[in-house]
Amino acid sequence: MPSQTSPHAENLQWTSKRVAELEESQTLAMAARSRTLAEQGFDIINLSLGEPDFETPAHIKEAACQAVHDNYSQYTPVAGYTDLRQAVVRKMENELQWQVRLEQVIFSTGAKQSLINVLLAVLNPGDEVLLPAPYWVSYTGMIQMAEAKAVILPSSAESGYKISAQALEAAITPRTRMLLFSSPCNPSGATMRQEELEAWAVVLRKQEELEAWAVVLRKHPEILVVSDEIYEHIRFKEKHCSIVQCEGMASRTVVVNGMSKGFAMTGWRLGYAVAPPEVANACVKLQGQFTSATCSIAQRAALAALNGPMDDTHRMCKTFRQRRDLAIAETADLPGWDCPVPEGAFYLFPNIAYWFTAQWQGKPIGNAERMTEFLLEEARVATVSGDAFGSPECIRLSIACSEVKIKEAVARIRIALQQLHTQHSLGPRS
Ligand code: PMP
Ligand code: GLU
Repeated sequence: MPSQTSPHAENLQWTSKRVAELEESQTLAMAARSRTLAEQGFDIINLSLGEPDFETPAHIKEAACQAVHDNYSQYTPVAGYTDLRQAVVRKMENELQWQVRLEQVIFSTGAKQSLINVLLAVLNPGDEVLLPAPYWVSYTGMIQMAEAKAVILPSSAESGYKISAQALEAAITPRTRMLLFSSPCNPSGATMRQEELEAWAVVLRKQEELEAWAVVLRKHPEILVVSDEIYEHIRFKEKHCSIVQCEGMASRTVVVNGMSKGFAMTGWRLGYAVAPPEVANACVKLQGQFTSATCSIAQRAALAALNGPMDDTHRMCKTFRQRRDLAIAETADLPGWDCPVPEGAFYLFPNIAYWFTAQWQGKPIGNAERMTEFLLEEARVATVSGDAFGSPECIRLSIACSEVKIKEAVARIRIALQQLHTQHSLGPRS
């Protein structure tokens, strides 16, 4: 009788090299860990995941209920309902003075899918993507899935986590195919101003001129800009500006946005991209194979969000600002905690390298990941290591939670750091 198991069974591997090499999403991993600990009865304050704790505004929920009653139950066009895409065309025109055609707008299952669509649509293996650090956690995994290479441009707390035009220019090589960034930035909250974007645009335009003579040597000379504007509504200074408003940029920029942050709709999974027509067509082709389209009911809700009153969004932004102010005030005197004031989004991103030489459980803390371990074990506060965002001296705390939680979390962190301080055999730098 033939044996039921192959003699080589122990060597069989069902999963791909692609998955084996792919890094896990650190935000989601920490959120899962913190959930498990909470289920086991530990009192954890979860500052790992960035999601608004507000309810989705009532008029958006009502539109979704109405859509259920109206039997919006069939597949939608791959790129989304026409009226919804038209709402984005109008939004781009009104808010960014950017004239786009309907075919350039594609709705997807979260901005996350919008991003991976664009990356897979544009990048060939070996292409380089310029990634100003700190960058959002999933960009590197997505670049990896597209078999491209992330070229990380480091920044520091002193520069407010911003990359100069000179640094950007220095990183461009003949293989550069894309610049990918978020503004307001997750995790640092840094928010690019019009003049700063203009300086980047100057570099990119210059690059295009330089590339003109190299065009015969290279199949794709342009650097496509992917501007992730998902935090557009959560900014505390000037109004939102986009790189598409810089001269020469509109035709070579993809704007990615979504409903998760500004409308408290993370679970509804709705994002969109506005892309040059050939990129948009490629995204539709990919999405047609991946998901057919995103959820019909969620799309009807998104229409209500985009066409409806913005009062709830403004109210949420005001509350995020108050929380930011509170979190900055509460953490101001924490030792070894160097945190620029975020201008947007809802995260603190302190540099905590000061603590790396401090002893915990018989060895130095050593790195940011172990610092997050320490904070989880000793303060019962879940945070995410800066490594995941390209800044290994930092940790990220989501402050999209109540003021009570922010205060309690900082109080716990303070006590834990005091213990670390007294346990530190050498004593940290003063
Ligand atoms: N970009 C950034 C910068 C983010 O922080 C997030 C957070 N979820 C996303 C994209 C993806 O958003 P979603 O898929 O929920 O629309
Ligand atoms: N954008 C959120 C964050 O950065 C959600 C988590 C995720 O999508 O990875 O925490």
